[in-house]
Amino acid sequence: MAVLTADQEASVRTQFAPGAGQAAESKPVAAEGKVELPPTLSVKELAEYLDVKTVDIIKELMKNGVMANINQQIDFDTAAIVADSFGVQASPMAMDAAIAEQVVGEGEGTQVKLTTRSELFSNDGEAPENLKPRPPVVTVMGHVDHGKTSLLDAVRQTKVAAGEAGGITQSIGAYVVEEKGRRIVFLDTPGHEAFTAMRARGAQVTDLAVLVVAADDGVMPQTVEAISHAKAAQVPIVVAINKIDKDGANPDRVKQGLSEQGLVPEDWGGQTVMVPVSAKQKTGISEMLEMILLVADLQDLKANPAKLAAGTVIDAHLEKGRGPVATVLVQNGTLRVGDNVVVGHIFGKVRALLDDRGRKMKEAGPATPAVVTGLPDVPTAGDIFQVVSSEKVARTIAGQRAEQYRVATLAQTRRVTLADLSAQVGKGAVKDLNLVLKADSNGSVEALKGSLLKIQDPQVQIKIVFEGVGPVTESDILLAAVSNALVIAFNVKSDALAQKAAEREKVDIRSYDVVYNVTNDIERAIKGLYEPTFVQVWEGRADVLTPIKIPKLGIIAGSRVQDGKITSGSTAKVLRDNKLIHEGQIAGLKRFKDDVREVVAGLECGIRVDGYQDFQEGDVIESYQVKQA
Ligand code: GDP
Repeated sequence: MAVLTADQEASVRTQFAPGAGQAAESKPVAAEGKVELPPTLSVKELAEYLDVKTVDIIKELMKNGVMANINQQIDFDTAAIVADSFGVQASPMAMDAAIAEQVVGEGEGTQVKLTTRSELFSNDGEAPENLKPRPPVVTVMGHVDHGKTSLLDAVRQTKVAAGEAGGITQSIGAYVVEEKGRRIVFLDTPGHEAFTAMRARGAQVTDLAVLVVAADDGVMPQTVEAISHAKAAQVPIVVAINKIDKDGANPDRVKQGLSEQGLVPEDWGGQTVMVPVSAKQKTGISEMLEMILLVADLQDLKANPAKLAAGTVIDAHLEKGRGPVATVLVQNGTLRVGDNVVVGHIFGKVRALLDDRGRKMKEAGPATPAVVTGLPDVPTAGDIFQVVSSEKVARTIAGQRAEQYRVATLAQTRRVTLADLSAQVGKGAVKDLNLVLKADSNGSVEALKGSLLKIQDPQVQIKIVFEGVGPVTESDILLAAVSNALVIAFNVKSDALAQKAAEREKVDIRSYDVVYNVTNDIERAIKGLYEPTFVQVWEGRADVLTPIKIPKLGIIAGSRVQDGKITSGSTAKVLRDNKLIHEGQIAGLKRFKDDVREVVAGLECGIRVDGYQDFQEGDVIESYQVKQA
């Protein structure tokens, strides 16, 4: 693998290995016949996990027809078979649950300690005096049309004073209201789907669910779903019986229906708080908020504001003039302008913090939604963000995350380009085609993904390693490099750093603006039909000043480069009065007496074009590089 040097690779591996950062300790040895193993590991590492001699592992592998040396990487399945023969049952290590946190030592040999997400947010081990109460974070759920959106609007409108500076501005994905001087955070995306999508990414942001049930409709299928999602997450429920202003409203029927689902109202001797409200007439809102605070108090929600911040991305997009903009919910610690943050495999510095009304903030404490600018890329909702002590640490962790992606998605090392994919498919060398998708909107991403994942091939499976909105950035290339992926840029450009990185890392970026062309190319490639096409990329323009006769060589064009550059070996188009009169290779370039490889704008030179000598003053030579499309 060419992305990291052997040393870096080794260091990433050691950092990544369980127990890294605790230098003196070795791997946790199989206990009671069980062991957790990473997706790939070396023979030597497996020996350590199983606490047996390396040579015995090699022997066991040979029995199974695998010839391996001590440093050879084997995948989990193989390792599990070997473990089994030593009477140890292997289970996959939860790699996604492990995220890197602190880095010890700013100097050489920076080490990263791995902590789990729950460790990042939990208060275990905190001194009680460091823990301060924090506001609850609420998600609104319920059946379609029962008034989730209306209720969110009603809460915002009644509780955010209209005359206040900034007033009610554009939604940022969450907002804060006050009831009796205490704050409550509402997540602006209603529904259990979004809630569970976040949880699927390992993010638990909601402390309490408001279940909206329309009094004129009662318990419906999505009401039941919402209850089970909240229960699965062990999040307490406050019921808002909505639309009580309506003629057909029947709160008792709602209570009956909910009781059948195990939510028995307090006034019937149960445990569930139920508040009658009307989102339309904005009645019952304060009562509901008070109940939310009451139920939240039972959870004793606390955080340590003195720590470096950690939290979850709840919304992110690309904005003209501002670049990537992310709304984060700080869950622990305090986020400040200038902090170094890592989000997924992206790292950057907080340039500015805005609150939910568009006002500038210097810092954001626990349970504060904040709009963050300054990230180089658009993160994904549900991503965990984390402040670290320095840029170097951020860079290390981001790199390590990219490595995690790699380990988790593949065990192959060769870079794929679309052009050589066919050949590799022919040899049976490619099993997974990894893709990094970048597009101009979430809609495009979804459309592309949908079409790509429909492509069926007996030999090659398409895997989307990363998808996102916005231009192709350096971190995309890094990720593509470590996961041997092609980058699909759909209606988006690659920034300059990304292009450099792509050249350096030999990552193939393919630009498209029609979904059909993407799927067609990929399909043809995996069917082994792909033929590379070539395009001419404009490089520069020179005006011919005078023909110059050079003994033995003939006549060359004495010229001045006006734009771009002229390179020896490129293709020249000779134009006279805007008409093409010859096309041929630039066979030589001279500056004074010297042969040179290229000449840039503003300089004079002699251009020799293969097969052409009839230059005249006023001719124009355009030079093109031929590149594989
Ligand atoms: P959602 O799908 O759960 O987000 O529901 P909406 O908030 O979009 O509301 C669905 C419909 O119910 C809309 O036409 C609202 O105007 C109406 N609605 C919401 N709350 C109330 C209410 O308290 N009273 C009445 N009469 N109509 C309501």
